[in-house]
Amino acid sequence: MKRIGVLALQGAVREHLQSIEACGAEGVLVKWPKDLETLDALILPGGESTAMRRLIDRYGMMQPLRDFAESGKPMFGTCAGLILLAKTVVGYEEPHLGVMDVAVERNSFGRQVDSFEAPLEIKGLDGAFDAVFIRAPHIVSAGPSAEVLCVHDGRIVMAKSGQFLGCSFHPELTEDHRITAYFLSMIPSRSGFPLPN
Ligand code: GLN
Repeated sequence: MKRIGVLALQGAVREHLQSIEACGAEGVLVKWPKDLETLDALILPGGESTAMRRLIDRYGMMQPLRDFAESGKPMFGTCAGLILLAKTVVGYEEPHLGVMDVAVERNSFGRQVDSFEAPLEIKGLDGAFDAVFIRAPHIVSAGPSAEVLCVHDGRIVMAKSGQFLGCSFHPELTEDHRITAYFLSMIPSRSGFPLPN
């Protein structure tokens, strides 16, 4: 069974674990560097990226997360998790992990609409996905290696770049597990090729 970690320092952890289990994989709470050792893939959840970053530093997780990225295993950042993965965060000198070839802007859907739901058309999924946005970032630009998977209101809200998947919204807050399943399909099979959907 595939083992999928969820960084469990802050944010929407439990919901991701439930979604992973609904997809037939094992969900693993990740707090310490050793927790990363036996994983096939890792999810960085939504929450608050500045708070999560402080805890990453406090728990000594920065270098282990970079090493995990370096190992080539799939990583999925949702909302704050996307901000942690991005190579550039608009208005900040330094990124956090800085591994995914996208630039993101925080809280970019306006104060008066801190939270909203929208049906999204996502490349690779049949039929709309009802997405929950909470003080969401968006992808300002995606580098040449990135594939844009969804645009909402003229803004990129989901992209994939090699082993990295990122979205602005919270797929784990609905009963629709297709995005988690999509992420699981990015895990290479033992033969070295991604598993079929
Ligand atoms: N606004 C948050 C941040 O900048 C992200 C919000 C979320 O993850 N729901 O970290």
